[in-house]
Amino acid sequence: MARIVMKFGGTSMAGTERIRRVAAIVKRQQDAGHEVAVVVSAMAGETDRLVNFCREANPLYDPAEYDVVVAAGEQVTSGLLALTLQALGCRARSWLGWQMPLGTDDAHAKARIGALDAPDMLAAMADGEIAVIPGFQGVSEWGRITTLGRGGSDTSAVAVAAAIKADRCDIYTDVDGVYTTDPRIVAKARKLRYVTYEEMLELASVGSKVLQTRSVSLAMKEGVRVQVLSSFIDDDAPPADSLPGTMIVSDEELAQIQSARLQSARLESEGPDMERQLITGIAADKNEAKVILIRVPDRPGAVASIFGPLAEANINVDMIIQNVGRDKGETDVTFTVPAADLPRAQALLESAQATIGFQRLVTDGKVAKISVVGVGMRSHAGVAATMFQALADRQINIQAISTSEIKVSVLIDEDETELAVRVLHTAYELDAI
Ligand code: ASP
Ligand code: MG
Repeated sequence: MARIVMKFGGTSMAGTERIRRVAAIVKRQQDAGHEVAVVVSAMAGETDRLVNFCREANPLYDPAEYDVVVAAGEQVTSGLLALTLQALGCRARSWLGWQMPLGTDDAHAKARIGALDAPDMLAAMADGEIAVIPGFQGVSEWGRITTLGRGGSDTSAVAVAAAIKADRCDIYTDVDGVYTTDPRIVAKARKLRYVTYEEMLELASVGSKVLQTRSVSLAMKEGVRVQVLSSFIDDDAPPADSLPGTMIVSDEELAQIQSARLQSARLESEGPDMERQLITGIAADKNEAKVILIRVPDRPGAVASIFGPLAEANINVDMIIQNVGRDKGETDVTFTVPAADLPRAQALLESAQATIGFQRLVTDGKVAKISVVGVGMRSHAGVAATMFQALADRQINIQAISTSEIKVSVLIDEDETELAVRVLHTAYELDAI
């Protein structure tokens, strides 16, 4: 017997028919002898609808009242799932954010989780009752409803799993796991059996939108074992306990698994030579924009005068290049910001032109960031060189580069995104055979 948290996204909760399927999957876990808590999202599209109502009611809406409105979507689905489980003969009840309680700070619309212990809920679970928890919502210390930011139900699920010391947190979604890259771009993409927290964080932050990034950091911090798996399963599908999806685990657990099963431990289907698999996944992110400041004075403090104001305005700068200075004590500075923040960044820099002292500002929103990610690159040289060569062979120009210990990213022309991803997937021998 284990204690399992199951989380279902909006697509799985969209309508009574789908909720019935979810209830059947939940019941299956209970029948297998587990203590079960289920975290649910609002029906697909519902949160957007509620957000729009707030905008219509008052464009300058009070975030505390916004939270009251948008938290309602999950309240509906949690009640409906409890009802459906009861119809299947299970004992089930809903535990709203304020009932558990799931305590947060009072940063409405983007609240952070604080205290969470749910003794009554745990007692009910131990007594065989299924706990159904609306994701996304909590309660502030002032007793007001809060929400955790869009996509926050994943984070709710991980927080609940950590608090009740669950053996596993299963995130049921419309994909059946985490792939080496987007299978819509590369038909030969393969499902990963295991991915580490750090890899998942890098993949999530560079555009692979399977889980809310915050949920992955929380899982890493709390050591919650997370499985991503499909909610579209039929009766004879392998049970969740046999780990049919992708497990997100620590480096240490991965090392243990790999030494126990030297070959093909990570990929669903066997690849050419697993020992040499350096790259775990490739991600593309089109939501970046490039800014070039031309002829910036090449002196101490110049760069600080550019990035200081951007930081104050909460604009996240990612890749940065400063060119070699020209003869006249000038240099060019290139960097990227989220595309959504480009207009703000541009306005800010233009208003600071005199202080910074640059001559001209050029922007380009038609860029994509391609990243190769893998803990394997820690212990191997040449990962970046392979990337650059593979792109060069296809005449793909690299406009900027950034690296971390387990990631190499390049900025390229957006039109070449798909080609670049395909070429790299082959270059790192990730294609399914
Ligand atoms: N319903 C919320 C949203 O759409 C939270 C979630 O589904 O994770 O953002
Ligand atoms: Mg989601």
